[in-house]
Amino acid sequence: MPPLMLKGLTKRYGGTAVVDDLSLELVPGRCHGLLGPNGAGKTTTLRLALGLIEADAGEGRLLGHRLPREAAQARQRVGVVPQADSLDPDFSVRENLLAYGRYFGLSRREAEARIPALLDFAGLAGKADARVPTLSGGMKRRLTLARALINDPELVVLDEPTTGLDPQARHLVWQGLRRLIQQGKTLLLTTHFMDEAERLCDRISIIDRGRIIAEDSPRALIARHIEPHVVEVFGEGLADWAGCGRRLCRRCEQAGETLFCYTEDPEAVTDALDRQGQLRYLHRPANLEDVFLKLTGRDLRE
Ligand code: ADP
Repeated sequence: MPPLMLKGLTKRYGGTAVVDDLSLELVPGRCHGLLGPNGAGKTTTLRLALGLIEADAGEGRLLGHRLPREAAQARQRVGVVPQADSLDPDFSVRENLLAYGRYFGLSRREAEARIPALLDFAGLAGKADARVPTLSGGMKRRLTLARALINDPELVVLDEPTTGLDPQARHLVWQGLRRLIQQGKTLLLTTHFMDEAERLCDRISIIDRGRIIAEDSPRALIARHIEPHVVEVFGEGLADWAGCGRRLCRRCEQAGETLFCYTEDPEAVTDALDRQGQLRYLHRPANLEDVFLKLTGRDLRE
């Protein structure tokens, strides 16, 4: 049975469907990513999936339990990492974990027995007695992740787990998430970082205006939706050269002062640029961000 199954879910706020006939099925032991611009409906989808809000139409099951009626039961076996840290600032690291354990019905002794491994997992082994305000942003995120694991969940739901973290802290969180996947846990995560999604997710749903507009493995999404090479061109004289780029490439997109040339034959473009001599360029393989921008557009949302 899939850890999460959503079928035709619709959620309306003020007459607008912010989640619109959305279906999703998670594969056990895999990481599924939800990508979408701001306001696309990712957080609302997570809240529906956890049974925290009720859909206007459609149905779903979380760990076999009907949503939203039996969701509280299912949530006993789910870990949640919310977007904003909701740690208790008056408590130490250890006390935060203990308090959360009690919420899942663990005795103090049971919770205490789990804490050393969780602190170790989160790279907070020496910080058990530190108070929350003394922790760095990365440490707080890792504590929130450790806290979400106190009930040894089968499914972990993460809403933008690395937003606001520096590269070092992001890498530490990724290591932790990979270990969870290795342990056989199922992950559902939202992120704005395409490299994060590409690194962690087996499968990705791209959501826009409440609908899933593409879903596949990162590699398959790239192969299906985008040319394999990108040449980013910028510098003095771009306007004069742009017509040449457009003739040479399958698809070109101008964003600000940069022309993105999507092509199967990058040498034709870079040779022409070398002959032109003045423009600067960056040749790179196409990535998930290119797919995301192609499917959802380059306009700012919200
Ligand atoms: P995302 O997580 O993709 O940024 P959200 O699911 O948070 O998107 O929001 C989707 C849309 O639903 C947004 O336009 C947001 O303003 C609206 N929305 C979310 N929650 C509520 C609510 N409780 N009441 C009214 N509108 C809401």
